[in-house]
Amino acid sequence: MHSPFPESVRLQQARHPPLTIGIVGGGATGITVLRHLSELACGDRAGAIGGILLFDKSGFDGGVAYRTDSDHHLLNMKASKMSIRVGDAEHFLRWTRDRGLQCGGNDHLPRKFYRDYLDDVRKAAIERCRAAGIPVHVEQAEVVGMRPSPDHELLLTTDRGETHLSSVTILCTGHNAPEDHYDLGASPNYFRDPYARFAFADSAGIEVGILGSGLTAVDSATELASTHRLVRMTCFSRSGLLPTVQPITIPGTNDDFRDALHRYVQDREQVEADAFVGKLAELLKAIAGISCDLSCRDLDGDALADLERNIAEAETCEPNVHSYLASIANVVCDAWSRMNAVEKARFMNVYNSGWLRNRSAMPLANAVKIRDLIRAGRLSTVARLRNVVDIGGRFRATLGNGHHRDVDQIIDATGPSYRLNSSPLYLDMQRQGIVTLDALGGVCCGYADSRVHDRHGRPYRNIYAVGSPTKGTHFFAGAVDINMHRTESVIGSILGDAERMDSLASRPAELADARG
Ligand SMILES: Cc1cc2nc3c(=O)[nH]c(=O)nc-3n(C[C@H](O)[C@H](O)[C@H](O)COP(=O)(O)OP(=O)(O)OC[C@H]3O[C@@H](n4cnc5c(N)ncnc54)[C@H](O)[C@@H]3O)c2cc1C
Repeated sequence: MHSPFPESVRLQQARHPPLTIGIVGGGATGITVLRHLSELACGDRAGAIGGILLFDKSGFDGGVAYRTDSDHHLLNMKASKMSIRVGDAEHFLRWTRDRGLQCGGNDHLPRKFYRDYLDDVRKAAIERCRAAGIPVHVEQAEVVGMRPSPDHELLLTTDRGETHLSSVTILCTGHNAPEDHYDLGASPNYFRDPYARFAFADSAGIEVGILGSGLTAVDSATELASTHRLVRMTCFSRSGLLPTVQPITIPGTNDDFRDALHRYVQDREQVEADAFVGKLAELLKAIAGISCDLSCRDLDGDALADLERNIAEAETCEPNVHSYLASIANVVCDAWSRMNAVEKARFMNVYNSGWLRNRSAMPLANAVKIRDLIRAGRLSTVARLRNVVDIGGRFRATLGNGHHRDVDQIIDATGPSYRLNSSPLYLDMQRQGIVTLDALGGVCCGYADSRVHDRHGRPYRNIYAVGSPTKGTHFFAGAVDINMHRTESVIGSILGDAERMDSLASRPAELADARG
């Protein structure tokens, strides 16, 4: 077994030995964990952290969201929402200024800059730890196995065949490729990666189908339009409607809406999907005067008219449906945690795409580009997609009304998958009975504490997850600001446990119970 740390460090004793914390995944979430630990390690928790192990299989390239080099792939969130430093909302903005970038709090920079931010944050955090005498082992490798060791620690095995010991592991493994819902993977004209370089010819008469009409589809269309000026693009989806548009600034919203919905959720042990969404719509109308139908019943709506209306609304800087839904992200997660499996499935089937369309709104700059593409006849949208099949190198999309459309290329912009059944690590853990995969994405874990559960539903003392691997439990597990807060609470829980073990160390009779 490989131990990257000198024996003196491993044996340096508090009453409870300092923890070696393993971080699996070095995207935005893993770097947020590292950063927060580095700050604590230099402060009053210095003695609690004995070392940090950080693994990333793709070489710290920003992860799925930020590895793109395209100027057309913008941050979906405004710069003022992108700090990963707990308690310091201006951290990212200050970084942009230090870099000489022209960026205000309401701007949406190209995502490649955020990758550079993550890189700088990672390097600074490692330096900070090392200066404080906390060793950090950083490895570009995939963690492919995890099992408990006899002394209650965790053995992490990488695809290089090395094994490392950690006291606690935080799974920050993030997104996976889209799901290939129509089994098109074998076709050479199918792009499973919507951020790939589109190498096909640019000529009039080439029809490109984009699966989805959400934020990923907007990214694909704006990028393709810049490299292929002659092809025609069609977004195929259920509603045929594009995401709503973010107001230019972040307008204040009436807290009564959030508070009333929060009370509705807190008053119930069980939440039903239909009733919850009905209440949300009723309160939004009553308090803010905004209509919102998350069921997307408005099929075959006119996408251009809808987009033009949303752009005009966003330009007023008044709060819109997105502003209100953004204010209740935590309330929706709470509601989700109170739904049983049937209600969660109903929410996903009926309301999720409406939630995404309205909650995950696009930057105004993208909306204007998309509007212009539609007006120029280069982009259209089609609703009621039912199926897509390969018809000998081309594709046939069948629609709910029985019609079909044929296209030459397909870009899968249905968004990243949350299923872990192609990850060697999770398959290994599942095989050993260490975890259960959640049917709605990620692994089974605790809603309040993010501790991963064993196959009997019991929480592990020393395995946590943050971000996408908690999708089925947390529902909303994407944006950096929400993951930053979950990171903070996970680290608080890890260090709180260590403290509790310290205080029990002087009372041996209770120790066995606490470890059990
Ligand atoms: C296209 C896109 C745009 C987005 N834009 C925004 C935005 O503007 N603002 C915002 O707040 N959120 C945005 N998001 C949400 C996004 O989920 C988060 O911002 C953030 O990127 C999530 O980071 P992560 O580290 O959890 O996941 P990821 O970015 O997916 O990173 C996970 C990392 O873990 C590594 N990994 C996985 N498994 C292993 C393993 N077994 N061993 C070792 N390494 C492993 C991967 O290689 C990867 O580097 C966007 C998401 C997408 C998909």
